[in-house]
Amino acid sequence: MRRLRRCKILATLGPASADKKTIAALHDAGADVFRINMSHADHAGMRARIAMIREVEKEAGRPIGVLIDLQGPKLRIGEFASGPVALAHGALFTLDDDPTPGDATRVHLPHPEILAALEPGHVVLIDDGKVRLHIVEKTDRKAVARVDVAGRISNRKGVSLPDTEIPVAAMTEKDRADLDAGLEAGVDWVAVSFVQRPEDVAEVKKIARGRALVLAKIEKPQAISRLAEIIEQSDALMVARGDLGVEMPLEKVPGLQKRITRMTRRVGKPVVVATQMLESMIVSPVPTRAEVSDVATAVFEGADAVMLSAESAAGQYPVEAVATMNRIAEEVETDSVYRSVIAAQRGAAPDPTGADAIAVAARDVAETLDLKAICAWTASGSTALRIARERPAPPIVALTPKADTARRLALVWGVHALVTKDASDVDDMARRACKFTNREGFSKEGDRIIVVAGVPFGTPGATNMIRIAFTGPEN
Ligand code: PEP
Repeated sequence: MRRLRRCKILATLGPASADKKTIAALHDAGADVFRINMSHADHAGMRARIAMIREVEKEAGRPIGVLIDLQGPKLRIGEFASGPVALAHGALFTLDDDPTPGDATRVHLPHPEILAALEPGHVVLIDDGKVRLHIVEKTDRKAVARVDVAGRISNRKGVSLPDTEIPVAAMTEKDRADLDAGLEAGVDWVAVSFVQRPEDVAEVKKIARGRALVLAKIEKPQAISRLAEIIEQSDALMVARGDLGVEMPLEKVPGLQKRITRMTRRVGKPVVVATQMLESMIVSPVPTRAEVSDVATAVFEGADAVMLSAESAAGQYPVEAVATMNRIAEEVETDSVYRSVIAAQRGAAPDPTGADAIAVAARDVAETLDLKAICAWTASGSTALRIARERPAPPIVALTPKADTARRLALVWGVHALVTKDASDVDDMARRACKFTNREGFSKEGDRIIVVAGVPFGTPGATNMIRIAFTGPEN
């Protein structure tokens, strides 16, 4: 099975996609990687889903990526004595350390470290920003706020603090347990929520020890101000527009999406655009024009992947949502302006490494000669990533002896990964590269492809060889 697009699709699993038949249909429709949101899944549920994904993978004969999304330090208010309360515009409302149930004048904030970090002037958003307050007075045990945007709030609603650096690590005890369970179950990617500092990503990487790659979700203003350092620490990024649009003015999100996408692409790491891409398809079999345009924008920006959340996890049309995304990406990528838009964004010069110089050369030769594929022999996936950074016109076929590498590459722009034993010498490398590109439908007898590798084989980071190979029986 080969996809006719470079941009990948990341589909979240949930109650609407909990059985193997639906997972297979989602994969068939275009899902390349599946996301399990640990805010809604327990360990048994996660393991059951991964087992089904691996069965679908085996039957389809294609590597499928699995990503778990850690919940992170989601802050919540306490409870109210007599149900929801209405906060009027201009009223005072207190957040305090008293665990007794609240009323229309106060509520418990069960996070003492947050209470300590709040300062006069800081904004407090409750329930995804539906109610907005700002702090006017602060003591050790309470913060008095004035209501700027009125509304009703109820038990345990979420709290967002766009101005306050939260003095807690990005991982809670639950996240640690979820991460251990995920690594044990063999997930390929781990997404870290509410990242504020590069250290938040480093902490997860230290635990993962290379068993899974780590993706930083960018959803807090504090992360935006340290973006370059966070990108450096992470294996991939996600523009998590849901929480980003709560913590920052909504109109800033499109510009941030472009900035995050460009900065991440520049260093050759995957970037995912997420949230509300086809939101109306939760209840409707067709998207809105604006949603189609939103997905198309991300594809034109050269994002590695676009993501579905509730559309595939809890909506009425999960398979249709994936199929719609697939059609949009295919159409955009065959549009006559697509290549020029992608090429214009390339921008940065290659890093001065052998792998980058060869990636640029592979793209140049392949595009100059209109070759059918760039075939990369890769153990860690790094050679394929460096080539993907160049966003070449021909597809990238990654040949790897490691199933883990092939699954991780499922998230990467333009990469079609295959698991095969390592090549024995340079001729074997060229001959088998041709055989695979023919077999997978990228080339046919008589076509030429590019082969990239590191010789001697199996030496990580040793990309040093580029060859034009003729596909045909003589190979
Ligand atoms: C988001 O906020 O956009 C996001 C992807 O995170 P979650 O779905 O966990 O809220």
